[in-house]
Amino acid sequence: MLRSIILAAARSSRLERLTATAPVSRNVVKRYVAGTDTNDALRTSRELVDSGLKVSLDYLGEDTLTTDQAESTRDEYLKLLSALKTEGLTPATEVSIKLSALGQRFDEELSLSLAEEICTAAADADTTVTVDMEDHTTTDITLDAVGKLRQRFSGTGAVLQSYLRRTEADCREFAVKNSRVRLCKGAYAEPESVAYQNRLEVDRSYVRCVNTLMSGEGYPMLATHDPRLVEIAIDRAKWYDRGPHSFEFQMLYGIRPDEQRRLAEAGYQVRVYVPFGDQWYGYLMRRLAERPANLRFFMQSLKSRK
Ligand SMILES: Cc1cc2nc3c(=O)[nH]c(=O)nc-3n(C[C@H](O)[C@H](O)[C@H](O)COP(=O)(O)OP(=O)(O)OC[C@H]3O[C@@H](n4cnc5c(N)ncnc54)[C@H](O)[C@@H]3O)c2cc1C
Repeated sequence: MLRSIILAAARSSRLERLTATAPVSRNVVKRYVAGTDTNDALRTSRELVDSGLKVSLDYLGEDTLTTDQAESTRDEYLKLLSALKTEGLTPATEVSIKLSALGQRFDEELSLSLAEEICTAAADADTTVTVDMEDHTTTDITLDAVGKLRQRFSGTGAVLQSYLRRTEADCREFAVKNSRVRLCKGAYAEPESVAYQNRLEVDRSYVRCVNTLMSGEGYPMLATHDPRLVEIAIDRAKWYDRGPHSFEFQMLYGIRPDEQRRLAEAGYQVRVYVPFGDQWYGYLMRRLAERPANLRFFMQSLKSRK
Protein backbone atom coordinates (compact mmCIF):
# COMPACT_ATOMS: atom_id res chain seq x y z
CA MET A 1 0.00 0.00 0.00
CA LEU A 2 2.70 2.47 1.11
CA ARG A 3 4.81 1.38 -1.86
CA SER A 4 1.97 2.27 -4.27
CA ILE A 5 1.51 5.68 -2.64
CA ILE A 6 5.22 6.50 -2.90
CA LEU A 7 5.34 5.29 -6.51
CA ALA A 8 2.29 7.43 -7.35
CA ALA A 9 4.13 10.39 -5.76
CA ALA A 10 7.11 9.61 -8.01
CA ARG A 11 4.90 10.61 -10.97
CA SER A 12 3.64 13.86 -9.38
CA SER A 13 5.27 16.93 -10.87
CA ARG A 14 3.76 19.10 -8.10
CA LEU A 15 5.39 17.01 -5.40
CA GLU A 16 8.57 16.94 -7.43
CA ARG A 17 8.70 20.76 -7.46
CA LEU A 18 8.01 20.84 -3.72
CA THR A 19 10.64 18.24 -2.91
CA ALA A 20 13.26 19.62 -5.28
CA THR A 21 12.98 23.07 -3.75
CA ALA A 22 12.69 21.85 -0.15
CA PRO A 23 15.83 21.91 1.98
CA VAL A 24 16.38 18.20 1.54
CA SER A 25 19.35 16.97 3.45
CA ARG A 26 22.18 16.46 1.01
CA ASN A 27 22.84 13.19 2.78
CA VAL A 28 19.59 11.60 1.58
CA VAL A 29 20.30 12.24 -2.08
CA LYS A 30 24.02 11.63 -1.62
CA ARG A 31 23.34 8.16 -0.32
CA TYR A 32 21.97 7.05 -3.70
CA VAL A 33 23.29 9.61 -6.22
CA ALA A 34 26.98 10.16 -7.06
CA GLY A 35 26.69 13.91 -7.68
CA THR A 36 25.39 16.36 -10.24
CA ASP A 37 27.93 16.42 -13.07
CA THR A 38 30.34 14.42 -15.23
CA ASN A 39 33.25 15.07 -12.85
CA ASP A 40 31.30 13.56 -9.95
CA ALA A 41 30.50 10.52 -12.13
CA LEU A 42 34.15 10.12 -13.15
CA ARG A 43 35.40 10.46 -9.57
CA THR A 44 32.94 7.85 -8.27
CA SER A 45 33.72 5.47 -11.15
CA ARG A 46 37.41 5.78 -10.43
CA GLU A 47 36.90 4.93 -6.74
CA LEU A 48 34.71 1.92 -7.52
CA VAL A 49 36.88 0.59 -10.36
CA ASP A 50 40.02 0.97 -8.24
CA SER A 51 38.34 -1.11 -5.54
CA GLY A 52 37.69 -3.97 -7.96
CA LEU A 53 34.09 -3.20 -8.95
CA LYS A 54 32.58 -2.51 -12.37
CA VAL A 55 30.22 0.42 -12.99
CA SER A 56 27.19 1.37 -15.06
CA LEU A 57 26.64 5.15 -15.10
CA ASP A 58 23.14 6.57 -15.45
CA TYR A 59 22.63 10.24 -16.30
CA LEU A 60 19.43 10.93 -14.35
CA GLY A 61 16.32 11.96 -16.23
CA GLU A 62 13.15 10.37 -17.54
CA ASP A 63 9.86 11.24 -19.26
CA THR A 64 11.50 13.91 -21.43
CA LEU A 65 8.92 16.06 -23.20
CA THR A 66 10.89 18.02 -25.79
CA THR A 67 13.42 17.30 -28.53
CA ASP A 68 15.84 19.82 -26.98
CA GLN A 69 15.78 17.97 -23.64
CA ALA A 70 16.26 14.61 -25.36
CA GLU A 71 19.19 15.94 -27.38
CA SER A 72 20.79 17.49 -24.34
CA THR A 73 20.60 14.09 -22.57
CA ARG A 74 22.34 12.56 -25.62
CA ASP A 75 25.01 15.28 -25.38
CA GLU A 76 25.64 14.49 -21.70
CA TYR A 77 26.21 10.82 -22.56
CA LEU A 78 28.55 11.69 -25.45
CA LYS A 79 30.56 13.98 -23.16
CA LEU A 80 30.63 11.30 -20.47
CA LEU A 81 31.75 8.49 -22.81
CA SER A 82 34.53 10.59 -24.27
CA ALA A 83 35.77 11.45 -20.75
CA LEU A 84 35.56 7.79 -19.64
CA LYS A 85 37.73 6.83 -22.59
CA THR A 86 40.28 9.58 -21.87
CA GLU A 87 40.44 8.59 -18.21
CA GLY A 88 40.94 4.90 -19.06
CA LEU A 89 37.78 3.93 -17.18
CA THR A 90 36.40 1.71 -19.93
CA PRO A 91 35.51 -1.11 -20.41
CA ALA A 92 35.10 -1.47 -16.62
CA THR A 93 32.55 1.37 -16.78
CA GLU A 94 29.57 1.21 -19.14
CA VAL A 95 26.44 3.38 -19.31
CA SER A 96 22.74 2.78 -18.70
CA ILE A 97 20.17 4.79 -20.64
CA LYS A 98 16.43 5.34 -20.35
CA LEU A 99 14.62 5.65 -23.67
CA SER A 100 12.03 7.94 -22.04
CA ALA A 101 14.87 10.39 -21.34
CA LEU A 102 15.63 10.32 -25.07
CA GLY A 103 12.05 11.18 -26.06
CA GLN A 104 10.45 7.72 -26.42
CA ARG A 105 7.12 8.99 -25.09
CA PHE A 106 6.60 11.49 -27.91
CA ASP A 107 8.87 10.25 -30.72
CA GLU A 108 10.07 6.63 -30.77
CA GLU A 109 12.20 7.16 -33.86
CA LEU A 110 14.01 10.07 -32.23
CA SER A 111 14.75 8.04 -29.08
CA LEU A 112 16.13 5.18 -31.17
CA SER A 113 18.36 7.41 -33.25
CA LEU A 114 19.73 9.20 -30.16
CA ALA A 115 20.32 5.80 -28.52
CA GLU A 116 22.23 4.74 -31.65
CA GLU A 117 24.48 7.78 -31.31
CA ILE A 118 25.17 6.86 -27.68
CA CYS A 119 25.91 3.23 -28.67
CA THR A 120 28.32 4.47 -31.38
CA ALA A 121 30.17 6.62 -28.81
CA ALA A 122 30.21 3.68 -26.37
CA ALA A 123 31.69 1.39 -29.04
CA ASP A 124 34.34 4.04 -29.79
CA ALA A 125 35.14 4.11 -26.08
CA ASP A 126 35.33 0.29 -26.00
CA THR A 127 32.32 -0.13 -23.75
CA THR A 128 28.62 -1.03 -23.79
CA VAL A 129 25.18 0.41 -23.19
CA THR A 130 22.36 -1.19 -21.22
CA VAL A 131 18.81 0.03 -21.89
CA ASP A 132 16.90 0.38 -18.60
CA MET A 133 13.35 -0.93 -18.47
CA GLU A 134 10.57 1.43 -17.38
CA ASP A 135 6.85 0.77 -16.80
CA HIS A 136 5.02 -2.06 -18.57
CA THR A 137 3.42 0.19 -21.20
CA THR A 138 6.91 0.55 -22.71
CA THR A 139 8.15 -3.07 -22.45
CA ASP A 140 7.41 -4.07 -26.05
CA ILE A 141 8.75 -0.90 -27.66
CA THR A 142 11.85 -0.95 -25.46
CA LEU A 143 12.68 -4.61 -26.22
CA ASP A 144 12.02 -3.88 -29.87
CA ALA A 145 14.47 -0.95 -29.73
CA VAL A 146 17.08 -3.15 -27.99
CA GLY A 147 16.67 -5.71 -30.81
CA LYS A 148 17.35 -2.98 -33.40
CA LEU A 149 20.36 -1.62 -31.47
CA ARG A 150 21.78 -5.15 -31.18
CA GLN A 151 21.87 -5.50 -34.96
CA ARG A 152 24.72 -2.97 -34.99
CA PHE A 153 25.91 -3.09 -31.37
CA SER A 154 25.64 -6.72 -30.25
CA GLY A 155 26.71 -5.94 -26.67
CA THR A 156 23.67 -3.75 -25.95
CA GLY A 157 22.10 -4.95 -22.70
CA ALA A 158 18.39 -5.57 -22.18
CA VAL A 159 16.58 -5.37 -18.83
CA LEU A 160 13.82 -7.79 -17.77
CA GLN A 161 11.68 -7.41 -14.63
CA SER A 162 10.62 -10.54 -12.73
CA TYR A 163 7.42 -8.91 -11.42
CA LEU A 164 5.94 -9.00 -14.94
CA ARG A 165 4.05 -12.18 -15.76
CA ARG A 166 5.49 -12.16 -19.29
CA THR A 167 9.14 -12.11 -18.19
CA GLU A 168 9.76 -15.85 -17.98
CA ALA A 169 8.90 -16.11 -21.68
CA ASP A 170 11.08 -13.06 -22.45
CA CYS A 171 13.98 -14.72 -20.60
CA ARG A 172 13.69 -17.79 -22.83
CA GLU A 173 13.84 -15.54 -25.87
CA PHE A 174 16.80 -13.52 -24.56
CA ALA A 175 18.91 -16.43 -23.21
CA VAL A 176 20.87 -16.69 -26.45
CA LYS A 177 24.53 -16.37 -27.35
CA ASN A 178 26.14 -12.95 -26.60
CA SER A 179 22.90 -11.62 -25.13
CA ARG A 180 23.51 -9.40 -22.11
CA VAL A 181 20.41 -9.43 -19.91
CA ARG A 182 19.96 -7.59 -16.63
CA LEU A 183 17.37 -9.32 -14.47
CA CYS A 184 15.77 -7.18 -11.75
CA LYS A 185 12.54 -7.44 -9.75
CA GLY A 186 11.01 -4.23 -11.17
CA ALA A 187 10.54 -0.81 -9.59
CA TYR A 188 7.24 0.61 -10.93
CA ALA A 189 3.62 0.39 -9.72
CA GLU A 190 2.04 -2.14 -12.06
CA PRO A 191 -1.52 -3.52 -12.27
CA GLU A 192 -2.35 -7.10 -11.31
CA SER A 193 -3.29 -7.90 -14.89
CA VAL A 194 0.37 -7.73 -15.94
CA ALA A 195 2.40 -8.07 -12.73
CA TYR A 196 2.65 -10.26 -9.63
CA GLN A 197 1.65 -8.19 -6.61
CA ASN A 198 3.00 -10.43 -3.91
CA ARG A 199 6.72 -10.37 -2.97
CA LEU A 200 6.91 -14.16 -2.79
CA GLU A 201 5.53 -14.52 -6.31
CA VAL A 202 7.97 -11.89 -7.61
CA ASP A 203 10.87 -13.74 -5.92
CA ARG A 204 9.73 -17.12 -7.28
CA SER A 205 9.50 -15.63 -10.75
CA TYR A 206 13.03 -14.21 -10.26
CA VAL A 207 14.34 -17.71 -9.45
CA ARG A 208 12.64 -19.23 -12.51
CA CYS A 209 14.19 -16.47 -14.65
CA VAL A 210 17.64 -17.07 -13.08
CA ASN A 211 17.30 -20.76 -14.02
CA THR A 212 16.44 -19.87 -17.61
CA LEU A 213 19.21 -17.29 -18.01
CA MET A 214 21.92 -19.30 -16.25
CA SER A 215 21.08 -22.47 -18.22
CA GLY A 216 21.05 -20.50 -21.48
CA GLU A 217 23.87 -19.17 -23.63
CA GLY A 218 23.69 -15.46 -22.82
CA TYR A 219 25.42 -13.29 -20.25
CA PRO A 220 23.13 -12.88 -17.19
CA MET A 221 23.46 -9.67 -15.13
CA LEU A 222 21.70 -10.43 -11.85
CA ALA A 223 20.57 -7.11 -10.42
CA THR A 224 19.38 -7.66 -6.88
CA HIS A 225 20.38 -6.91 -3.28
CA ASP A 226 18.29 -9.79 -2.00
CA PRO A 227 20.67 -12.12 -0.08
CA ARG A 228 18.57 -15.23 -0.79
CA LEU A 229 18.53 -14.57 -4.52
CA VAL A 230 22.27 -13.88 -4.57
CA GLU A 231 22.86 -17.27 -2.89
CA ILE A 232 20.54 -19.00 -5.36
CA ALA A 233 22.39 -17.40 -8.28
CA ILE A 234 25.73 -18.63 -6.89
CA ASP A 235 24.24 -22.08 -6.53
CA ARG A 236 22.88 -22.06 -10.11
CA ALA A 237 26.26 -20.97 -11.46
CA LYS A 238 27.72 -24.18 -9.99
CA TRP A 239 24.78 -26.21 -11.17
CA TYR A 240 25.10 -24.97 -14.77
CA ASP A 241 28.90 -25.01 -14.67
CA ARG A 242 29.32 -21.29 -15.24
CA GLY A 243 32.62 -19.63 -14.36
CA PRO A 244 32.54 -16.31 -12.47
CA HIS A 245 33.28 -14.41 -15.70
CA SER A 246 30.24 -15.74 -17.52
CA PHE A 247 27.76 -13.68 -15.48
CA GLU A 248 27.76 -10.72 -13.09
CA PHE A 249 25.95 -9.34 -10.09
CA GLN A 250 24.67 -5.78 -10.17
CA MET A 251 23.66 -3.55 -7.27
CA LEU A 252 22.72 0.09 -6.86
CA TYR A 253 25.14 2.74 -5.61
CA GLY A 254 24.68 3.17 -1.87
CA ILE A 255 22.82 -0.10 -1.27
CA ARG A 256 24.65 -2.95 0.50
CA PRO A 257 28.16 -1.67 -0.36
CA ASP A 258 29.73 -4.22 2.00
CA GLU A 259 28.03 -7.02 0.13
CA GLN A 260 29.25 -5.56 -3.19
CA ARG A 261 32.83 -5.72 -1.91
CA ARG A 262 32.38 -9.16 -0.33
CA LEU A 263 31.18 -10.66 -3.61
CA ALA A 264 33.99 -9.00 -5.58
CA GLU A 265 36.57 -10.26 -3.09
CA ALA A 266 35.10 -13.75 -3.45
CA GLY A 267 35.94 -13.56 -7.16
CA TYR A 268 32.56 -12.62 -8.62
CA GLN A 269 32.09 -9.74 -11.03
CA VAL A 270 30.03 -6.99 -9.43
CA ARG A 271 28.78 -3.94 -11.26
CA VAL A 272 27.48 -0.90 -9.37
CA TYR A 273 24.75 1.16 -11.03
CA VAL A 274 25.71 4.77 -10.36
CA PRO A 275 23.21 7.57 -11.08
CA PHE A 276 24.32 11.18 -11.36
CA GLY A 277 22.74 14.48 -12.40
CA ASP A 278 20.21 16.82 -10.83
CA GLN A 279 17.00 15.03 -11.97
CA TRP A 280 17.10 12.70 -8.98
CA TYR A 281 13.45 12.90 -7.86
CA GLY A 282 11.89 9.88 -9.69
CA TYR A 283 14.93 7.72 -8.97
CA LEU A 284 14.97 8.61 -5.27
CA MET A 285 11.23 7.97 -4.89
CA ARG A 286 11.60 4.46 -6.38
CA ARG A 287 14.39 3.73 -3.88
CA LEU A 288 12.16 4.94 -1.03
CA ALA A 289 9.30 2.74 -2.27
CA GLU A 290 11.57 -0.31 -2.20
CA ARG A 291 12.28 0.27 1.45
CA PRO A 292 9.63 2.37 3.17
CA ALA A 293 11.85 2.35 6.31
CA ASN A 294 13.97 4.87 4.38
CA LEU A 295 10.97 7.19 4.27
CA ARG A 296 11.30 8.19 7.92
CA PHE A 297 14.93 9.16 7.33
CA PHE A 298 13.85 11.17 4.26
CA MET A 299 10.98 12.97 6.05
CA GLN A 300 13.28 13.91 8.94
CA SER A 301 15.73 15.43 6.48
CA LEU A 302 12.93 17.46 4.86
CA LYS A 303 12.18 18.99 8.26
CA SER A 304 15.75 19.48 9.39
CA ARG A 305 16.77 22.13 6.81
CA LYS A 306 20.26 20.61 6.55
C1 LIG B 1 21.79 -2.58 -11.13
C2 LIG B 1 20.30 -2.39 -11.04
C3 LIG B 1 19.62 -1.90 -12.13
C4 LIG B 1 18.24 -1.77 -12.07
N1 LIG B 1 17.56 -1.39 -13.20
C5 LIG B 1 16.20 -1.38 -13.17
C6 LIG B 1 15.45 -1.14 -14.36
O1 LIG B 1 15.99 -0.91 -15.44
N2 LIG B 1 14.09 -1.15 -14.25
C7 LIG B 1 13.45 -1.42 -13.07
O2 LIG B 1 12.21 -1.45 -13.05
N3 LIG B 1 14.14 -1.62 -11.94
C8 LIG B 1 15.49 -1.62 -11.96
N4 LIG B 1 16.18 -1.87 -10.80
C9 LIG B 1 15.47 -1.86 -9.49
C10 LIG B 1 14.91 -3.23 -9.16
O3 LIG B 1 13.86 -3.55 -10.02
C11 LIG B 1 14.42 -3.29 -7.71
O4 LIG B 1 13.40 -2.36 -7.52
C12 LIG B 1 15.50 -3.04 -6.65
O5 LIG B 1 16.71 -3.61 -7.03
C13 LIG B 1 15.09 -3.64 -5.30
O6 LIG B 1 14.89 -5.03 -5.42
P1 LIG B 1 15.88 -6.14 -4.80
O7 LIG B 1 16.04 -7.20 -5.83
O8 LIG B 1 17.12 -5.52 -4.35
O9 LIG B 1 15.05 -6.81 -3.64
P2 LIG B 1 14.28 -6.22 -2.37
O10 LIG B 1 13.48 -7.36 -1.87
O11 LIG B 1 13.59 -4.95 -2.69
O12 LIG B 1 15.46 -5.90 -1.37
C14 LIG B 1 16.30 -6.90 -0.81
C15 LIG B 1 17.16 -6.26 0.26
O13 LIG B 1 18.01 -5.29 -0.34
C16 LIG B 1 18.12 -4.14 0.47
N5 LIG B 1 17.49 -3.00 -0.26
C17 LIG B 1 16.75 -3.07 -1.38
N6 LIG B 1 16.37 -1.84 -1.79
C18 LIG B 1 16.88 -0.96 -0.89
C19 LIG B 1 16.84 0.44 -0.77
N7 LIG B 1 16.21 1.21 -1.67
N8 LIG B 1 17.48 1.01 0.29
C20 LIG B 1 18.16 0.25 1.17
N9 LIG B 1 18.23 -1.10 1.10
C21 LIG B 1 17.60 -1.70 0.09
C22 LIG B 1 17.41 -4.45 1.74
O14 LIG B 1 18.34 -5.04 2.61
C23 LIG B 1 16.39 -5.47 1.30
O15 LIG B 1 15.95 -6.30 2.35
C24 LIG B 1 17.55 -2.07 -10.85
C25 LIG B 1 18.25 -2.57 -9.77
C26 LIG B 1 19.60 -2.75 -9.84
C27 LIG B 1 20.31 -3.34 -8.66
